[in-house]
Amino acid sequence: MSYQVPVKKVLISEEEINKRVKELAKQISTDYAGKTPLLVCILRGASLFFSDLIKNLKIDCNLDFMCLSSYQGTNSSGKVRLLLDIRDDIRDKDVIVVEDIVDTGITGVYLRDLLGARKPASLEFCTLLDKPQNRKVEITPKYLGFSIENEFVIGYGLDYNELYRNLPFVGVFDETKK
Ligand code: 5GP
Repeated sequence: MSYQVPVKKVLISEEEINKRVKELAKQISTDYAGKTPLLVCILRGASLFFSDLIKNLKIDCNLDFMCLSSYQGTNSSGKVRLLLDIRDDIRDKDVIVVEDIVDTGITGVYLRDLLGARKPASLEFCTLLDKPQNRKVEITPKYLGFSIENEFVIGYGLDYNELYRNLPFVGVFDETKK
């Protein structure tokens, strides 16, 4: 049985992802030693990255989840909708928002404003991928897996119309093969 996926090429292999996720978890564990940060997973895109990241942390942490939507197909609507909010009160907590990809930065700025207004002790961003060329608003994630070119990617949590999130690698989407 062959499973055809619409990718032009594998951009980041499973091995490269695993290695980088471990490095990020080590960095976060060092930076937050003695603290108990709250890690917020941004659904659905960050789900695979989030679970691999937290498995590799060597500190206590709390977990929570938010669901946002802004994309349809390969286009951003530019408008962020909050579909699910976190459950915990974050006042005086150290919060790390875990995202799949920062593209225009609009989602990140939306989250920074929303969560920042709730007065956490600290608020940082951790993203698997960054497309800095496409930035429309200023946001610089403290923890970054890979900086990539301005191409639409799928896999390892990232979708095209809710498909291909299950791929273990990140690939460049091929519209002609969908
Ligand atoms: P931003 O608000 O920074 O423009 O975009 C953030 C969201 O857009 C991401 O969380 C992700 O859901 C979606 N996005 C941006 N670029 C890509 C991409 O190349 N592939 C996929 N699948 N989603 C993307």
